[in-house]
Amino acid sequence: MGGGHEQIRQTIDKLRREIEQHNYRYYVLDAPTITDTQYDRLMADLQQMEREYPFLVTPDSPTQRVGGKPREGFATVQHTIAMLSLANAFGDAELIEFDRRVRGTLGNESYDYVVELKIDGLAVSLTYQDGILVRGATRGDGATGEDITVNLKTIRSIPLRLHKPVDLLEVRGEVYMPKKSFIELNRRREERGEPLFANPRNAAAGSLRQLDPAVTAGRNLSIFVYGIGAAELPGEGLPESHSESLKWLESLGLRVNTHHQLCRDIGEVISYCRIWQDKKAALPYQIDGMVIKVNSLDQQSALGATMKSPRWAIAFKFPPEQAQTIVRDIIVSV
Ligand code: NAD
Repeated sequence: MGGGHEQIRQTIDKLRREIEQHNYRYYVLDAPTITDTQYDRLMADLQQMEREYPFLVTPDSPTQRVGGKPREGFATVQHTIAMLSLANAFGDAELIEFDRRVRGTLGNESYDYVVELKIDGLAVSLTYQDGILVRGATRGDGATGEDITVNLKTIRSIPLRLHKPVDLLEVRGEVYMPKKSFIELNRRREERGEPLFANPRNAAAGSLRQLDPAVTAGRNLSIFVYGIGAAELPGEGLPESHSESLKWLESLGLRVNTHHQLCRDIGEVISYCRIWQDKKAALPYQIDGMVIKVNSLDQQSALGATMKSPRWAIAFKFPPEQAQTIVRDIIVSV
């Protein structure tokens, strides 16, 4: 490797170490010190450099990995099906590019998308056996999560028993803290001189990953379920599309967000994203973008996934709010 490349390697290494530190603060300590926009910029820089110098990509680069390591004190859970992250699109052009890639794989087949709110919380997996909740886990690094069953059982919108006794069903969703509860929690913490949570997402993660479930129980968390992981239901068969899955999950008594739309093309997707970009402040919980998913589950399988994210979905990230600033270590986003 020439001297020029050595310098680039060092720059890339430095960037990776910086990102890893932020990952640790965000995923393990639930206490970030930079805004998500600042973080996304560092990640975009690293991705750009790795695209230019693909021979410098390493398997342990933050661009190749999901989330963070489990926190000490929790038993670990191996996910039967990996819990991946999502690739990001930061504008319309990147959404159009995503659609071009989807069409490239699906060829002449027609396809449509489901567009959902991207809830700014913490991904969890809930496993039901014969309709009874037996295990709940965090996403962790995608392969291994933390066993937080007792904590998840304190969340009232998580049913302990499904409306139908499905043999085995693992569902995935986002645990979040409503905006009001977040403000109230930080107000109480400030009164007691305790460190404040940076944003509702970190407050939700910090509240859920508590060794004492009584603390979680007092934190007013809720959930939106948005997908199916492992499943066995002999006889009945699984839904064939994502939109049918959402209806089915709802019929089982799970809490599914009502704001989602079936879109026939990327133009409709962009219009729907625009609507929520303008209306998001009115929601009682924080969203940081929209999630676009290919609707047919067969087509999802055909598209597959990379190590880090499915190729059949993308997160459209809203541009940063003017009002988002770090004020005394609190990231305020309205
Ligand atoms: P992500 O949050 O961008 O996207 C993936 C996640 O979206 C999924 O795991 C799931 O939890 C969630 N999600 C919400 N609604 C969903 C829906 N309807 N359907 C499917 N998934 C849905 O990815 P990530 O890998 O968890 O984290 C990256 C994010 O974390 C970025 O926004 C980044 O800025 C932030 N981050 C910030 C720092 C920091 O220091 N500020 C550090 C690390 C990460």
